Amino acid sequence: FDGSHPLPWQGTWRTGFSGLGPAFLTHLQPTPLPDAQWVAQSPQVAQLAGLPDGFMQTEQALQAFTGNAVLPGSQPYAGVYSGHQFGVWAGQLGDGRAITVGETAAGWELQLKGAGPTPYSRGGDGRAVLRSSIREFLCSEAMHALGIPTTRALCLTASHAPVYRETAETAAVVTRAAPSFIRFGHFEHFAARDMQSELRQLADYVIDRYYPACRSGWQGVDSEGAPVPGNAYAALLYEVGQRTAHMIAHWQAVGFCHGVMNTDNMSVLGLTIDYGPFQFLDAFDPSHICNHSDHQGRYAFNQQPQIAYWNLFCLGQALLPLIEDQDVTVAALEAYRPAFSQAFRQRMCDKLGLPRAAQQHTAAATPVIGRLLELLATHRIDHTIFWRRLSRSAQDGDFQRTRELFLDSADFDRWLLSYQELSAQSGQALDANLMLNTNPGFVLRNHVAQEAIHAAEQGNFQVVQDLLRVLQHPFDEHPAHGAWADFPPAWASSIAISCSS
Ligand code: AMP
Ligand code: MG
Ligand code: MG
Repeated sequence: FDGSHPLPWQGTWRTGFSGLGPAFLTHLQPTPLPDAQWVAQSPQVAQLAGLPDGFMQTEQALQAFTGNAVLPGSQPYAGVYSGHQFGVWAGQLGDGRAITVGETAAGWELQLKGAGPTPYSRGGDGRAVLRSSIREFLCSEAMHALGIPTTRALCLTASHAPVYRETAETAAVVTRAAPSFIRFGHFEHFAARDMQSELRQLADYVIDRYYPACRSGWQGVDSEGAPVPGNAYAALLYEVGQRTAHMIAHWQAVGFCHGVMNTDNMSVLGLTIDYGPFQFLDAFDPSHICNHSDHQGRYAFNQQPQIAYWNLFCLGQALLPLIEDQDVTVAALEAYRPAFSQAFRQRMCDKLGLPRAAQQHTAAATPVIGRLLELLATHRIDHTIFWRRLSRSAQDGDFQRTRELFLDSADFDRWLLSYQELSAQSGQALDANLMLNTNPGFVLRNHVAQEAIHAAEQGNFQVVQDLLRVLQHPFDEHPAHGAWADFPPAWASSIAISCSS
């Protein structure tokens, strides 16, 4: 990068997280990579983050988002956190391969993932390979388009520099974006070290910036279920639980398996974060394990709601010195369970096309949902295709295309009858529009990601870009790319993905 030219960057940075001080982060420079190339960009995120018009077309942006140049006014840093990994206290972790460039004036932190080692790399190389970076870039944007809270991805760049995993691969950098990357593990870090003033400083920062309503506090709910004012940190725990419940309900409804729900991979903003061995289910298998290093199945698909609770418990324990009341802490945590059940039920009612106005009055929906999930599991029906076909069937009033998915259609027909009864009880027709905007045709299946990765590894980034455009509109039809909505090929089930790559 030729630093002698006047720099076109006109942006400004907010102090934000970096203002918390040296106990929280270390300032450092990214490590450069040779021959940086653009792989893909998300113009939506550039706009959200308030980047100057045309900036993403500049050489400066390419170099800055590969870690080869530092933007004027930016003071890059890596943050420290700790966490529980696979249920075991892991002690200090931190941004081992993520370097935050800063927070834009619009309130978006930009973070380079794979930009070289940091004081928290613990022997790792600080790099990310092209393969996993494509997965993170695409999935961040895909999840957002599905209406699921997530960190975003601004852009993806690649280099020919070798990175050694099981074999030699090449380096890439994803610039992720989020209002904050603070994790449960940030709180655990200061609680475990008994650093009370930093713990309080962090909690106050999170409340003031992201949860200002928590200042009126929380100490439980009244007989109507309305929050009763009290301790601000209890309110924070309660709200994080509510947002987490909302996020997990989305995951379960769309068939998203995260794969590494360690407490350091849980966002206090309730955002899906850290895309590693994630997978969208193909055939519906509730106990599916997508991370091939997860031998116990701790993070199996159907364990996710319970694991989120376990992780919230760790957050609650970390916040206890600030809440100073065990009963209130437990009550704030317990509120997660009904919040999840309610959010999940609503997602499922939407998927079934029960009109929103009728959803509260149809207690009968619960067994219909339960029976359907059993049926999908028993018959190993493709999850995404089932829901999309059901939506079309509801629209056409003809369920034959959905029925065809089942080898034994008698089971399906019995269920269909109960579904139609439920719909009749609600007194309103099924809302096919709601279904078609809730049940996507396109999700980032492993084998589809693999296709984009394969092309990119041959130097063709077009497939990544085309796939991004499809995933940005997952509820639309994309006739030119119909194959990406089709059944997975037989080899898809042999794709094995593990943690950090
Ligand atoms: P993960 O399982 O991806 O959440 O990563 C767990 C921890 O390992 C985090 O602190 C990461 O920053 C760190 N880490 C993962 N991969 C690398 C790498 N290649 N180099 C340095 N640190 C890494
Ligand atoms: Mg992580
Ligand atoms: Mg990771």
